[in-house]
Amino acid sequence: MKILPGSTLGMLGGGQLGRMFTIAARTMGYDVVVLDPNTKSPAGELATTHICADYSDQTALAQIAKSCDVITTEFENVPASTLESLAKTKPVRPGSKAISIAQDRIQEKNFLKDNGFYTAPFVVINSLDDLKNNISKTGTPAILKVSRLGYDGKGQFAINSESDIEKAWQTLEDEACVLEQRVPLDIEVSVVLARGTEGEVTSYPVSENIHQGGILDVSIVPARIDQALKTSVINMAKDIAIALDYVGIMAVEFFISDGKILVNEIAPRPHNSGHYTLDACVTNQFEQQVRAVCGLPLGDTTLLTPIVMINMLGDIWHNGDAPQWQKLLDHPNVKLHLYGKPEARPGRKMGHFNVISVNIDDALKLAQELKQQLSKA
Ligand code: ADP
Ligand code: MG
Repeated sequence: MKILPGSTLGMLGGGQLGRMFTIAARTMGYDVVVLDPNTKSPAGELATTHICADYSDQTALAQIAKSCDVITTEFENVPASTLESLAKTKPVRPGSKAISIAQDRIQEKNFLKDNGFYTAPFVVINSLDDLKNNISKTGTPAILKVSRLGYDGKGQFAINSESDIEKAWQTLEDEACVLEQRVPLDIEVSVVLARGTEGEVTSYPVSENIHQGGILDVSIVPARIDQALKTSVINMAKDIAIALDYVGIMAVEFFISDGKILVNEIAPRPHNSGHYTLDACVTNQFEQQVRAVCGLPLGDTTLLTPIVMINMLGDIWHNGDAPQWQKLLDHPNVKLHLYGKPEARPGRKMGHFNVISVNIDDALKLAQELKQQLSKA
């Protein structure tokens, strides 16, 4: 059944991804109910209704189940029990199976391994002894990552030699973890795709991603890799979506390491590396999320122009003062996106800008110059 404009869409999570979904959905004539425990949230302030409650608040869940025609999510840490309970009354897309796998690195890595996808060599770690006994399996350098609730490089500890082991375990506070070999990176890329209710899949052009301190910094599209590699990562992302029986928008992050393709992570939602689609594709990833979860035909993902996206973190706010936006707005081919977060903190994603040019090298050059200018106090 197609869910048409005039219907109400439920969004679990009120961050920037939920905000951009809300903008797309409301533009298309839907109402949006956002569930987020914060009194003020980027998505909540643009939603038709913001329910300010915890993700397991039964009264709130009952209200969503009653008022919404379909429910989706903008972050993977919604409790599986919440998704299962909502799914008893209304369609939840993506479903709890895919989200439970993506929200838990141990399940995610095992799922990938069991389905024949390569990852960086890893071992599951549940105790300090586990870590001591298994470090030889990955060798050093390695990265210890908490299995649940890590993001933007948080919940990770670099183990550069065996002398870092105790500190790593203490820092991550005794949680179930994955120990991963730190692999040499030729390049990092990602694929955003949508899978509809009939199983049809549409993918976006591959994004080349540069991270700083574990956080996405720059995305470059088209990615500067050869066509055969692009086709391989797109096909792999599609196969992962099929194996998860996925409905909705999804991203897969890849490492290209010594010429081999390794899957890093699966995101069961729109992705930061897909923000370029807002200004460069016929259909952006948020409209595509609306289309996929509503059972509508998926939109055209054609790339209309080369583009570079730059993330803006709270670090470039000095003493609470916003950067000089004029520097971006002076350029006719630069698009500013701010998420409406009241407080700028280091490492917090506050917004991004997209630079469009007929030539990717020119876009990258201007993007880097503007980034430098903005970071100056
Ligand atoms: P998050 O959930 O915080 O995005 P990731 O596992 O994707 O965590 O790690 C963030 C970034 O850290 C990656 O995009 C990559 O740049 C680097 N990184 C993570 N794991 C590895 C690894 N095993 N080898 C090399 N680099 C890694
Ligand atoms: Mg990641």
